[in-house]
Amino acid sequence: MPAPEELLDALDPEQRQVAEALRGPVRALAGAGTGKTRAITHRIAYGVASGVYAPTEVLAVTFTTRAAGEMRARLRRLGAAGVQARTFHSAALRQLRYFWPATRGTDLPELTESKLGMVAAAARRQRIQPDQAMLRDVASEIEWAKVSNVGPDDYAAIAAARGRSVTGLDDETVGRLLGGYETVKREQGRMDMEDVLLLTAGLLADDERVAAQVRRQYRWFVVDEFQDVSPLQSALLDLWLGGRDEICVVGDPAQTIYSFAGANASYLTGFARKHPGATCLELVRNYRSTPQVVSTANQLLAGTPSKGVELRAVREGGPEVTYTPHADEVAEATAVVGRVEELRAGGMPLSEIAVLLRLNAQTEAFEEALAARAVPYVVRGAARFFDRGEVRQAVTLLRGAARAAASGASDPGDVAGPDEEGVAEQTRAVLAGMGWTPEAPTGRGQARDRWESLQALVDLAAEWSEGTLGGFVDDLDRRAAEQHAPVAEGVTLATLHAAKGLEWDAVFVCGLQEGTLPIVYAEGPEAVEEERRLLYVGMTRARRELALSWALARNPGGRASRKPSRFLDGLRPASTDPEPAAGRRSRSRRAVSCRECGKALLTGPEKKRGRCDDCPASYDEALFERLREWRLRRAGEEQVPAFVVFTDATLQLIAERRPVSEGQLLAISGIGRSKLERYGADVLALLSDEAS
Ligand code: ATP
Ligand code: MG
Repeated sequence: MPAPEELLDALDPEQRQVAEALRGPVRALAGAGTGKTRAITHRIAYGVASGVYAPTEVLAVTFTTRAAGEMRARLRRLGAAGVQARTFHSAALRQLRYFWPATRGTDLPELTESKLGMVAAAARRQRIQPDQAMLRDVASEIEWAKVSNVGPDDYAAIAAARGRSVTGLDDETVGRLLGGYETVKREQGRMDMEDVLLLTAGLLADDERVAAQVRRQYRWFVVDEFQDVSPLQSALLDLWLGGRDEICVVGDPAQTIYSFAGANASYLTGFARKHPGATCLELVRNYRSTPQVVSTANQLLAGTPSKGVELRAVREGGPEVTYTPHADEVAEATAVVGRVEELRAGGMPLSEIAVLLRLNAQTEAFEEALAARAVPYVVRGAARFFDRGEVRQAVTLLRGAARAAASGASDPGDVAGPDEEGVAEQTRAVLAGMGWTPEAPTGRGQARDRWESLQALVDLAAEWSEGTLGGFVDDLDRRAAEQHAPVAEGVTLATLHAAKGLEWDAVFVCGLQEGTLPIVYAEGPEAVEEERRLLYVGMTRARRELALSWALARNPGGRASRKPSRFLDGLRPASTDPEPAAGRRSRSRRAVSCRECGKALLTGPEKKRGRCDDCPASYDEALFERLREWRLRRAGEEQVPAFVVFTDATLQLIAERRPVSEGQLLAISGIGRSKLERYGADVLALLSDEAS
């Protein structure tokens, strides 16, 4: 076991204050990456090493199983093995299993992870015929109501004021379903995840002997990420404490991202009111990220209701944060994978790289692009795209439709011609049978997630220009197979929610267009602020390299109608404005720092070239200029901004590598199948004219 002093030496003065405040109540309120998690693990280890805490009397609570596992590992390394580090749920379940049989004289109800079957049974009794998506939305609503202490009878009165709704059902009906669900569950002798907390709280509140025994067992409580605690979790914590004050909480109000699920940051901000005499501390230095990342994150919150303590960077400088528009999502994914390959070639382990997205459904384009380049990846917090239930079901149905179409195709006069329209149309028809609609459903939740997954398939079908539905299904099978290779270590693909508390050397936050972030269903200023905080969480995961990007169209060849996220206003350079081609030209030609050495550019010609006089060009500049002229013509013809055709970076790569085949073109970052189809012949012709 390390000496107590040694443990404190690893901390800065403010973190040290947290660690030394071994007696509660203690609250540390601090920004991202300031060492909150580090401070509380060291505090526990210090308490154990100095003999104040018996390890078995400490309960450390975090929000995810992964975070709890990481905390246990850290505590072990710090010599505090034997300390319980658990989620609220797992700590409660353990107590429930232990005390329930003896005190209630019955077996503990069976724990069920999915509510759907019971929600369906409750709906049948109300003569409602819900589809899967509606079932899932009702299930989310049940979860919210239970952690928020909202009973079935109160739901209708409260829902509107809290901005809650379920697509396709009025609030009274949802309230009745909430009650009906509880009845079905009771009849079946089951409990759900929320019941684990509710029943534990009930045991502690009703039975003095149980409460006394639990309180004798645990004397010291620590909670990480306290900004995301729910009313139910807070109530359970109070019961554990039983009026004692030995509690230490840390959190960052600016990272509150679960309000929609019932979390409430006021437990953190109002901690001192509830616990008079609390030691309140602030951590101020950000150890995680470069000054470039820190200042971007600070700017994102400046002047907004989410603004907290300003982060102060202490790490040395790194690369600038980048802001990149892409023509479409395929181009965006391709470019990101290109950069990932560069980082990998430069020695960065793939496990140090993450791509963060707002929605699970967005992972598909990235899974495809990574698989196409054989870059291993792991999806965190969700199933891989082709493993998702609705996607599997859709592919099965499409395969059936393709078989039917193929057998009917011999029948003259049947089946639309095997053109692009045909595949897209047929796909839409099949998915409509699963409840897909051209318009997104209102409201958030599972119904929306499911729609996004199906929409992703519709988009893939729209891209499919090579013939039959059967061909499209084969292509889906290929994608699924390629994306399935299991990996030990790879790039992390995760939603912003699932990235909480984690960190990587390089972070790509992608899909930063209006409608995706803030998500289209974030209605009202509070919901929009939560979206801003989600971006803040994403940005502050980066240690060194932070790349922000968005796609102007969803699909290759689609109209460039999307706008960059409003959260990037004031952050991104004006050269990334989505303006018509003519307006952009002069400004986008002017770089401010040398792309070779990063030095500031002073003269006009230097700026125009994007390279200082000292650095040699890595490509043929005359050729580059001719490519730009060609691009300008094409952009004019297509009435899109020039960078929608190809970015400068892509043109430079073309000028550098002088590809002579389609294969070589495809190997260039920024050129995917659809760009190849549109521009490949032009570019190859221009290069071969050049060579002759
Ligand atoms: P988040 O808000 O994202 O949860 P956090 O406040 O919990 O962040 P930590 O994860 O504890 O921050 O720390 C961020 C990074 O900074 C970690 O890599 C950690 O090891 C490092 N770090 C924190 N404090 C120090 C310190 N005093 N000296 C060196 N490194 C530190
Ligand atoms: Mg943390």
